[in-house]
Order: sequence, then C-alpha cells, then structure tokens
Amino acid sequence: MTVNRRAVIAGLTAGLLLPRFAFAADLSLGDMRVETLSDGHLTLPRSMLFAGLEPEAVDDILQACGVAKGAILPPINVTLLRHEGRVVLFDAGSGPSFQASAGQLALALEVVGISPEEVTHVVFTHCHPDHLWGVLDDFDDPLFPNAEYLLGQGEWDYWFDPNTASTIAGERASMAVGAHRRLEVIEDRVTRFRAGDEILPGVLAHASFGHTPGHMSFELRSGTESLLIGGDAIGNHHVSFAEPSWPIGTDQDAEAAAQTRLRLLDMLALDQMQLIGYHLPKGGIGRVERQGSGFRFVAGVDI
Ligand SMILES: [Zn+2]
Repeated sequence: MTVNRRAVIAGLTAGLLLPRFAFAADLSLGDMRVETLSDGHLTLPRSMLFAGLEPEAVDDILQACGVAKGAILPPINVTLLRHEGRVVLFDAGSGPSFQASAGQLALALEVVGISPEEVTHVVFTHCHPDHLWGVLDDFDDPLFPNAEYLLGQGEWDYWFDPNTASTIAGERASMAVGAHRRLEVIEDRVTRFRAGDEILPGVLAHASFGHTPGHMSFELRSGTESLLIGGDAIGNHHVSFAEPSWPIGTDQDAEAAAQTRLRLLDMLALDQMQLIGYHLPKGGIGRVERQGSGFRFVAGVDI
C-alpha cells in the first residue's frame, strides 16, 4: 500500500500541475545532510501582503521577478536536517486546517521515506500557522509523537500568553488562539532557547525579530561551511529583496522586520552564505547577491 501510494505520488509530482513534495535540492554540509520538503503553498491576496505600498511600483518588481498576476502563492519549504542520528525539521508546516493549498508535509516525508515517528526534533522559527499548526494531525494529536520541540523563549512567552489574543491586532487574533491551543498540547515536550544558543550540535540560533516578536533564524555550521535557515525573516524573493526596507503586510512589526531583513541580506551577500527561505522559490535554497540599491535571490545549490 505504502509503496503504491509513493509510486502514485512520485508519478503525480513528475507533472507540472502539482507541487513537488521533495525537492532535488539536497545538499551536504560536512556530515550534515540538508534538504527541503514542500508543505504546499500559501494563497495570499496582494492587498494584504503589500498594503500601503504603491501598486504600480510593486507590479514592476513582481513582473521583473516573473511573478504571475493575481494572488501571491508563496511556496512553503520545510527544512529537513539529518545529522548524527537526529532527524530534525525546521518548522512543521500548516497542518490540515489552515489553507487548502498547504498542509502536505506528511506526504512529503513519506516520499523521502521518513515516518513521523522517526522525527527526533522540530525546531520552530516562529508560531505563525504555516509554521506551527502542522504539529497536530487530523485528530488534533501530535503528528510527531517522539519529537522534542525547540522554540525561542521570547516567541514562547508571546504566543503562550493567553492575553495575546486580545492584545494583538484584530485580524491576527485567530493566529494567537490557534498558536496557544497547539502550544498547550505540546507544552511538556518544548525546550526553550535564547539567541546565541547552540540548540543542537552545529545549529546556532540567531535573533531575527520583527516578523513576529521572537522570530529566530538558524545557522548550520560544519567546518568552514555554513548556511542560514532564515524562516520568514526574508519572506519573499521579490519586493523584500529589491526593496528590503518596504513594509510587508505579514510582518507584525514592519519596521523591526525591515531592519532585520536588511541586516541579514547584507550579511548573506557579504559572506556568500547559502540561505534557505521558508517562502522562497525552487525549494527555497540559494544565495543573495546585490543588485542596484537592493538585492536578488539566486536559487540553486552550490555547496
Ligand atoms: Zn510563513
């Protein structure tokens, strides 16, 4: 049954109409094996993502980046790290109850031959639905029954606080309720960490606040090689690269998020460090180059 299902999925994903669940982007960093798995994609109205920006200026950038007209459909890239016997996911996808076009992580894991029981750690960048809600399955039980969860202390404090739902901007209240409910289910297995901590061997937490109050990014290091799992600190490959200081509607604190984005883009371009972006195209792996007064994302694996 499993074999047949895999074969069917493999056949389907060879086509152009469905998202690919497991990307060819599979790289080695010393003895770390890293790949990205697709949880599907989001569907976001332009009016929400680019609220307050000049539509013509946005259109110019989107067109230059080859983005189709209409709603923005950001891919969702969950990073899988296999290292020293650990099976680590960076974020958990959207689960069954967020958006119909998302929530495919369990299928993606099946395609690469990993069962949910084999996942040893789930590391969160932040607690938005497309990153956290996938911790629970269709029956509201933990999808990864043997996993330890790692979450930044500030992010935990913010979303676990039951008052957040009433103090956060109205349209985000359902995200706060949803986050709190899921954190309650996994509470006993959550380990909190702080910026600068080496949370697992070769995995360092970097503060990248703004998108959410406690958003974290993660640097993977092996010898002289390193890459950054950026989460949503750099949330799209078009406007946020071309004009990183422009506000983005999904960032909770747009000004702090822009400062974080600029700092990370500068560092990534200068160090020519590989980046994995949760919503960047082609599996989300690539590099950052300067372009004019901004930057551009160059997708592809080269380490
Ligand atoms: Zn996201």
